[in-house]
Amino acid sequence: MAVLLDGKAVAAKVLAEATARAERLHVRGSSCGLAVVLVGNDPASEVYVRNKRRDCAKCGIETHDFDLPATTTQEELEALLDRLNGDARVSGILVQMPLPAHIDAQRAIQHISPEKDVDGLHPVNLGRLVLGLPGPRPCTPAGVMRLLREYDIDVAGKEVAVFGRSVLVGKPLLLMLTEADATVTICHSKTPHKAETAQRADVVISAIGRAKLVKADWMREGAVVIDVGMNRDEDGRLCGDVDFAQVEPIASAITPVPGGVGPMTRAMLMLNTVAAAERLAGLPGEWPR
Ligand code: NAP
Repeated sequence: MAVLLDGKAVAAKVLAEATARAERLHVRGSSCGLAVVLVGNDPASEVYVRNKRRDCAKCGIETHDFDLPATTTQEELEALLDRLNGDARVSGILVQMPLPAHIDAQRAIQHISPEKDVDGLHPVNLGRLVLGLPGPRPCTPAGVMRLLREYDIDVAGKEVAVFGRSVLVGKPLLLMLTEADATVTICHSKTPHKAETAQRADVVISAIGRAKLVKADWMREGAVVIDVGMNRDEDGRLCGDVDFAQVEPIASAITPVPGGVGPMTRAMLMLNTVAAAERLAGLPGEWPR
């Protein structure tokens, strides 16, 4: 039976760390605040934003809420971001994606000060990642790396297959795993022989977004399986990319969905926010890796 990689439990530990660091900032009279910007009424985005605000409240991080109408223009959004960049009470800025189609998301991200970019998606911060320099890392890959470390799963010298090449998940994971001395194969929709590629890997990470696509015949016995996917199954229940019932008996360790990578992503956002606040307060502010 595989070890269940309990993202909820590890996230609770990470949130306790963020809470202690936020408290230290309050004691010395420094701000620690996250601006959460939501444009429009996408129901999934509303849930994500509500959860992030709730996490902030739990950690003692002040939230600055901006729920903007779907008709908000690029210029209006950028004017708000300019204002938040200059606001000393705001340590981190989060613009919830996706943005309405008429807004250029890349332009909006580039309007956030790299020092307040707690999602780690500003080109400067992605550049820091490529160069191996400290900086805020995208929260989901950072959460995956932390989860692996918490369970003493050392990827050094291991073969890792990552499915998905998005800027949000797959590409940063490629860099972070390589930095940790793994040998990484990155696969996408055009990759031939996906199952064979996965079978060679000691660790399989899936960030595709297709319910239960990853089956037992993709796995070698004893593989570590990290499921980033968040999908709905045929009954409308939340599920990952991995067919858990099939794969769990073969794996040595596996993340559940829900309760695996999702809580880790949220927790890493809190840690990125306190790190940004510490740095703005002139403290070392170590970024989570
Ligand atoms: P995305 O931008 O849509 O990227 C999906 C990637 O999967 C693409 O690179 C795509 O390849 C690849 N792909 C599609 N079909 C494939 C197939 N049959 N075999 C191999 N690769 C395939 O999605 P994302 O934002 O990275 O998110 C991926 C999943 O993770 C979604 O379910 C999302 O909800 C979830 N997610 C979860 C968290 C969390 O906190 N748990 C955070 C972020 C995302 P191409 O590039 O060739 O199109």
